[in-house]
This record gives sequence, structure tokens and C-alpha cells, in this order.
Amino acid sequence: MQKKVLIIGTGLGGLTTALRLSSRGYEVEMVEKYHRAGGRLNLLEKDGFKFDLGPTFFSMSYEFQELIKDCNIPMPFEFVELDPLYSVHFEGDKRSYLIYKDLKKLALEFQHLEPDFEKKIKKFLEAAGKMFHDTEDIVIKQNFDSLAQYLLKLTTVPFKHAPKMFYSMWREMERNFESFEVKVIFSLVGFFLGSTPFDTPAVYTLLNYTELVHDGYYNVKGGMYKIVEGLLPELEKRGVKIHYNTEINDFAEQNGRITSFADTSGKIWEADQFVVNADAAWFRGAILKRAAFSEEKLDAKKWTLAPLTIYLGLDTKIPDMYHHNYFLRRNFREYAGKIFKNKIKLDKPYYYVNIQSMHNPEYAPPGKESVFILCPVPDLRFKADWSDDDEIADAIIQDMSDRTGFDFHKHTETKIILNPEHWKNMFGLYKGSGLGLAHDLNQVGGFRPKNKDEKFGNLYYVGASTVPGTGLPMVVISSRLVTERIQKDNGLIS
Ligand SMILES: Cc1cc2nc3c(=O)[nH]c(=O)nc-3n(C[C@H](O)[C@H](O)[C@H](O)COP(=O)(O)OP(=O)(O)OC[C@H]3O[C@@H](n4cnc5c(N)ncnc54)[C@H](O)[C@@H]3O)c2cc1C
Repeated sequence: MQKKVLIIGTGLGGLTTALRLSSRGYEVEMVEKYHRAGGRLNLLEKDGFKFDLGPTFFSMSYEFQELIKDCNIPMPFEFVELDPLYSVHFEGDKRSYLIYKDLKKLALEFQHLEPDFEKKIKKFLEAAGKMFHDTEDIVIKQNFDSLAQYLLKLTTVPFKHAPKMFYSMWREMERNFESFEVKVIFSLVGFFLGSTPFDTPAVYTLLNYTELVHDGYYNVKGGMYKIVEGLLPELEKRGVKIHYNTEINDFAEQNGRITSFADTSGKIWEADQFVVNADAAWFRGAILKRAAFSEEKLDAKKWTLAPLTIYLGLDTKIPDMYHHNYFLRRNFREYAGKIFKNKIKLDKPYYYVNIQSMHNPEYAPPGKESVFILCPVPDLRFKADWSDDDEIADAIIQDMSDRTGFDFHKHTETKIILNPEHWKNMFGLYKGSGLGLAHDLNQVGGFRPKNKDEKFGNLYYVGASTVPGTGLPMVVISSRLVTERIQKDNGLIS
């Protein structure tokens, strides 16, 4: 008989799981607390401007190709490869650095700073590439039934990579490069993982390989939300029903199985199997009341930085900027060491700026520009009061104006600010953490909250805080892993 699956959450993890399961003949129903699908991969609209709410680019595009092939559907959106990938501005430096995948072009950017750059980066990327290919299938794309199984699997990773578990990404930069700028730029990926390059293990330089060699970065034609808009009709064709403004807050169980979940209005949601796309650690604590995931226990874990996001609709075009821009400073080590715990003033922060209407002209009325600013900030554990978000946003806009020579304040026609409290309330992000649980070695693989519940045999998890990790391609892999688990438990694959 056809099994019914209820999926809680319509983030990319929930949607792609729904697509995989419904393509395999499952009856799928979804509930979502927000008013629109996509979770963090969402859209904002105001005064004729559109904004990608969160993600603005992604790597490992082949994971989307795999999803499409797995579900036997035509590609419902079009990738646009970024070239250059992004630009980087350092405070006090008039020039900016363009990061190209073409290593010869990239070398020209750094020739005045780093002697023999091309030779050095090739050597660095070769080592990172070996690590990526030696670990991707073994560690990232696998379900593990136990910690022991995970640890055993780790032993099959070639031993030559082992030392990189024990020294930092920054150390790896120092081993390969001399210039401060080069070291900073290529260690920025450490922040995506939820840590600083000074305490992220060097193994994660494999991300430099995915960024610069393996696949690059992509945007989507018409905006990132086209991913969601492309998936929704496919789900509809397969009879998947989605109920918005529906927040799950309770459950019922019998004999080691979940029988139903309940939403805040008291409505009961029944199914044979359940997949949770809400944060896998938070849900176990807040909804299932597990002591191992109590607030105290979760607070003691490492979480990625929280977002302070600013969306500007400008009354004119910006003359001289690239699509993706990082604005950095020279106090990198101090800032990295203090930002997580709110030990540094936020009047001069590091931030990322995406000129969204540059890729997608339909994001702004003709002659105007839509701009997204992301400033990674301490989560609500360390900074609970965000009544100063306007002030911080103003300082960022002023800083950006000073550094680019374009008056963003003067040209702002419309503005939205979302602080970590907003993000927490919109999607249930734990204490506002933007990317979910960090990727320290003791929080990945067999150590990360599992995609199969410890107690209830018919309860599963998908998304950023379960395996393998955060970011759009990882979440697509997560949907494959949970689908495999469900299929296996139902005796449909071995
Ligand atoms: C500002 C920002 C920028 C980012 N930029 C990038 C980027 O450029 N590239 C990239 O690859 N990644 C980026 N990320 C990370 C990426 O967005 C996430 O890793 C990914 O979208 C997570 O998807 P998910 O399905 O796991 O979770 P979510 O998108 O969070 O989806 C979970 C869903 O569950 C719903 N939910 C939660 N609790 C309940 C409940 N109790 N009842 C019902 N529904 C519930 C939520 O409302 C949400 O819709 C960014 C994240 C942020 C915040």
C-alpha cells in the first residue's frame, strides 16, 4: 500500500525530499509555519523591488542535476555561472580584488602582493582537490547508522590527509602564501562553516577547491527563488499538498512510533512516516522534549553566525560595482576571535553585498537597483537585544558609501532590515543562527544530529543541521540521504 509521509517545513530540504519521495510513489503532505515555501531560500518584495532573502549563490551545482535526474524531471531553472566569482575590498585599499576561476587572470590580481602566486595557488588547490575527492563520497554523501560506523569509515580516508585535521585553515594559508590579503580571502570559507579560519581545521580548504576549480559558483536566471518556483509545480503534479501558516508544536506517540503531530491551532496531522525539515537539533529539544537537546545543551554547541540583512531599493543604478562583493578590514584575527561572542563593536563590521538587479534586471524597476547586504553577527545567545539594528545598518551603508564613492544613503528609496530575532521568528532558526549548527569536526558526520530519530522508528530529519551539513547543495544531498533511509526502512532498497 502507498505510504503517507508528512514533511514539516518547506525549506529546500523539505521540498527536495518531497520531490524524491513523491517521485517514488509516496503520498506526501507538507506543513509550513511561514506563508510561503522555500524557508531561508525565499523572496522579499517591496515597492516594486525584489530581493533574494538569504542565499544568493551556490556551489556544487551537480547536486541539483543529480536531483533532477533522480526524479526524472526537466531542469526547472537555469544556472548562471559567476565570473568573476566575487570581488573583495579591504579597508584603506583603493583597489579591489576580483576572484577569477581562471588562475592566470587570478594571478594578475595578486602579482604585486604575492610572488609566484600562480604556482603557489596551483599547489594549494591540488592538495585541496585531492582531499575533496578522497572524502566527498566517503564522508559527505553517506548515511551512518552509528558513530562507530562513521569513525570506521574515516579510517578509509587516505592517511596523508590526517595532519590537516590537527592544524588550522589559517596555518594552511601561512604554509602556502605570504600576503595578508591572499590569506584572508582564501580563508573566508571558514566562516561559512560556522567558525573562524583560526580554529577551522585545514581539511576544509577543500572548499577552496570547490569554489575555484571543481564547480565554481552559480546564481539562477530570474533570481534564486526560481529554484523554489521551479520545484513547486513538479510537486503539485505529483499531488503533494502544502499547508502554509501551520506551525507544529506537539506530537503523539505509541509503541515507539509517532502517530501524529499537532499544530498551534490544535489540528492533528497523521501519516505513516514523518520528516522534519525544521532545525534537527532544535526540534528534538523544543518539540520532542529530549534532555540531550535542551536549551542548555544546544547553547553549549557551536552555531554559525547569525544574519543581519539589509535590503535596499535604490532610485538609480550603481556605476562601478560587481555582483558579489566582500567588504573586509585589516583587524581580521581580532575580529574573527571576537565577533561570535559579541566582544567587538559592530560599528565597523565585515559584510557582503550583492547587487541583485545586476544579474536579474526584473528585480528592480527600470533604471533602479536592488541591493542585498549580509553582515554576519553574534547570535541571540550573545546579543539578545537588536533594538540598535537601524544604527548598525546605517553604519554599514555609510561605510559602503565611503569605500565605493557612491552615496547609498542618498539613493535609498526603500529599505528593509532583518535582524537575528526576525530570522529566528520567521523560520525557527535556533537563536537566529543563519546556517545552523557549525561544522567543527565534533559536529559533523556521525557527531551531527542524525537524519533518523533515536527513539521513534518512523521519524526522520532533513536539512542544514542534520547530515551532511549546511548550504544549498548540502541540503539537496541531505534529501537524498533521508530518502535512502526511508526507502531502506520500508524494505525498498537494501
Ligand atoms: C542570510 C543567509 C544567507 C545564506 N546564503 C547562502 C548562500 O549564498 N549559499 C548557500 O548555499 N547557502 C546559503 N545560506 C544557507 C542556506 O540558506 C541554508 O543552508 C538552506 O537554505 C537550509 O535549508 P533547510 O531546508 O535545511 O532549512 P530552512 O530553509 O530553514 O527550512 C526549514 C523550514 O521549516 C519551517 N519550520 C521550522 N519550524 C517549523 C515548525 N515548527 N512547523 C512548521 N514548519 C516549520 C521553516 O519555516 C522553514 O521554512 C544562507 C542562509 C542565510 C540565513
